[in-house]
Amino acid sequence: MYNQSQVEGIRKICRVALTTVIAVILTVAVFATTAFASLLSEYNVTVVDNGVSTVVTTNETAPIEILNQANITLNDDDKLDISGFEAGNGGTIVISRQSTINVEYGGVIQTYSVWAPTVASALTEVGIAVRPDDKLNFALTDSVADGMVISIKAAFNVILNADGASAEFKMNEGTVADLLALAQVTLDADDYTEPAIETALVPGMTVNVNRVEIKEETKSEKIPYETVVTSSSKLEKGKTEVISDGVNGKQEVKYSVKYVNGKKVETKEVSRTVVNAAVSKQVLVGTKQPKSNGVKSKNGYRVGQKIKGRYTHYCACGKCGSGRGVTASGKKVKNGMKDPHYIACNWLPMGSVVSVNGVNYTVVDRGGSGLSSKGRIDIFTPEGHQACFKYGTGSCDLEIVRLGW
Ligand SMILES: [Zn+2]
Repeated sequence: MYNQSQVEGIRKICRVALTTVIAVILTVAVFATTAFASLLSEYNVTVVDNGVSTVVTTNETAPIEILNQANITLNDDDKLDISGFEAGNGGTIVISRQSTINVEYGGVIQTYSVWAPTVASALTEVGIAVRPDDKLNFALTDSVADGMVISIKAAFNVILNADGASAEFKMNEGTVADLLALAQVTLDADDYTEPAIETALVPGMTVNVNRVEIKEETKSEKIPYETVVTSSSKLEKGKTEVISDGVNGKQEVKYSVKYVNGKKVETKEVSRTVVNAAVSKQVLVGTKQPKSNGVKSKNGYRVGQKIKGRYTHYCACGKCGSGRGVTASGKKVKNGMKDPHYIACNWLPMGSVVSVNGVNYTVVDRGGSGLSSKGRIDIFTPEGHQACFKYGTGSCDLEIVRLGW
């Protein structure tokens, strides 16, 4: 058994021992915490320098120190974005480098300052929209390089009409020849385009391909006969006599015919070969004046007088007259008789000779009251009634050649 003082002593010992254990535990705990804290102070930061990523392991907390550690220096105009970075924890520091780019658009070059890392983002930054068919001298994913010249050739539509078909093409540059090459349209030696092959393409242009064909064509053609007129003093003035009829000849004519897109546009004669020559028509024209009767004037008319006349035609049929074939002068007439050169009128003595438009006619007949006025004549037409209608009526120049028989 322990007395009271012994019990107190044991309790004291126990208390000391417990305190020591706690102290040891605390010491271990403090040591462990310190070691852990030292490990956490190094962390990874991603630095994106103009689109190029680098991972930096650091225990620095200031972005500028982290960049120094990675040997990255900043220029005055460069931009730093630390919105994705948390000191002591990590994240991303983004550096945008200032670059000068030159953009050629529509033949004009402009210079811009940009911070974007790629061609695509740089063009977006300066407000230039690139459409899918536009042609660039760089890939949109290419990195921006200071001083680079980005050439943009905008796509535009042109229309090509060739061989009966019409098609639209997207072009960025070039001439009509380039368009034809793209469309795989070839031209033969004679073919041509509108506009011409060397013309630079412009938006909305329409190019027409004209196919030219030259064909040789032969035609059989008539050679019209000529009429040879010979004067004859044995024939009364104005009378004509056909000595021989004309015959048309024949010739073969070769033509070079130009077709454009199947349409004939030009015909050129190449050669002409006579197959049968034409035979001229031989005609005699009388110059013999009627025999004078010595009368100079009669009934108010005189030889040589010129009068404005008006003519009709009649024949020997029953509709035009009695149909008996005898004129008021006693001269016989019939349809089909050869070239009598007779007229009817009431205002000149019977047997008078009148030049009608240069051809002499003899007054052999009378007619109704319509033929009484000065200058009015009815011309006998042995070709018949139909011919009277055909020759019809009209004005003529008259000259009195003889008065009476
Ligand atoms: Zn008649």
